[in-house]
Amino acid sequence: MNYDYDAIVIGGGPAGSTFSRVAAKNGMNVLIIDKRREIGVPVRCGEGLGARELVKEGLEIPRSAYSTEILGAKVVAPNGKEIIWKDEETKGYMLERKFFDKWLCELAVDGGAKVLTYTRAVDIIKDNGKVGGVRVVHGAEEPYEIRAPMVVSAEGMEAHIARKMGFDTVHKPYDVDTCYQYEMKPYEHENLIELYFGNDIAPRGYVWIFPKADKKANVGLGIGGNVLNGTKRGGMKGSDPKTLLDNFIENNSQLKDASRLEDFGGVISVGSPLNEFVKDNFMVIGTAAKQVDPIHGGGIALAMESGMMAGQVVADAYSKKDYSSKNLKPYENEWKEGPGKKVHKRLLLRKVVEKLNDDDLNYIFSQISDQDLNKVMKSNFAPAVAKVVAGRPQLVKVLSALIS
Ligand SMILES: Cc1cc2nc3c(=O)[nH]c(=O)nc-3n(C[C@H](O)[C@H](O)[C@H](O)COP(=O)(O)OP(=O)(O)OC[C@H]3O[C@@H](n4cnc5c(N)ncnc54)[C@H](O)[C@@H]3O)c2cc1C
Repeated sequence: MNYDYDAIVIGGGPAGSTFSRVAAKNGMNVLIIDKRREIGVPVRCGEGLGARELVKEGLEIPRSAYSTEILGAKVVAPNGKEIIWKDEETKGYMLERKFFDKWLCELAVDGGAKVLTYTRAVDIIKDNGKVGGVRVVHGAEEPYEIRAPMVVSAEGMEAHIARKMGFDTVHKPYDVDTCYQYEMKPYEHENLIELYFGNDIAPRGYVWIFPKADKKANVGLGIGGNVLNGTKRGGMKGSDPKTLLDNFIENNSQLKDASRLEDFGGVISVGSPLNEFVKDNFMVIGTAAKQVDPIHGGGIALAMESGMMAGQVVADAYSKKDYSSKNLKPYENEWKEGPGKKVHKRLLLRKVVEKLNDDDLNYIFSQISDQDLNKVMKSNFAPAVAKVVAGRPQLVKVLSALIS
């Protein structure tokens, strides 16, 4: 069989670029295709990333790829009580994703990968039932074929080709957050990520204010897909994320007079990852595989981690010239044993938190410290649960799911 490449990667986001960097460094001839005209543009992201994630990858972020550094987090209860949490764990970067994604992609190119933008994968090619490449369209031109024995879906939320390959990439409304975000200026901040909770503010979700340089901030809101357009709440016009966000802004003394420099809506997976990630000659990585943190909808770090694991496993399969699912399975196993366990604990936490009303949330915020919060975010729930249940035993039924 004559192939054009050893592997074709659909999607030049953090997952696809990281995969390609690793595979190309291991000698593979890799092609990334992306339907966007420019890698990283348009941006549909809050742009927050924990610093330790990059350290884990052994990468030093260039100054152009981030707007400012994050020093910590401020979490605000429905009644306004704040918990400020600042330590090594909460340090991070506010990315400029248009430059960050392009930088990651350029690293792959520097390692030997090739990139084609404005090129959409429209179908998978099969030779006698075996994956042999993808059919693509460049702009509005006629479709053509690019052949490779290995195809990787790093398509993000759409995951159209992965779905064609039989992966369950459809999302139920309950398993997504629908979001709206503005980039706003001026906003005086202390380089903290600010998160605001409350069922009237953001039912089954929260408002985020992420600090950017030059008194700018990404101000966004995400709510559960299942509460979208639900009952009118608190005299508001409706429960769509934009209306709720506008309402929050109107009631915020700083933001109500600030300008909006950019706005967008988006949807992110906050449910269970796919049950399987590989088939013969095909795999799914990053958000396409629903590898997203169900608590905050962060998916950049998980996408990069998945790209690293998958890239190494495919490089091993390449050395054996055998991309059967048996040889690709170590990626799936490694992910499930590592980040997958953390994601499942976060999903459990999400399902518990969404059962709490504002009064419960206010009580919890009055009892726990930043250190308890730190432990909760590391899936060590017991200390916080013990404190809360001691004063509010009626919550034992809901919270016991976290420690059973
Ligand atoms: C409102 C919102 C806010 C968010 N905020 C944060 C945050 O602050 N921090 C964080 O960590 N995460 C955040 N996320 C999630 C984060 O953006 C994603 O999880 C992350 O980008 C996943 O990376 P990826 O490489 O898997 O997919 P993506 O970055 O989505 O990349 C997929 C790429 O595939 C391309 N593509 C898709 N289909 C095709 C096709 N058929 N042919 C060719 N190309 C194709 C797309 O053009 C895209 O470039 C947010 C998401 C949303 C919606």
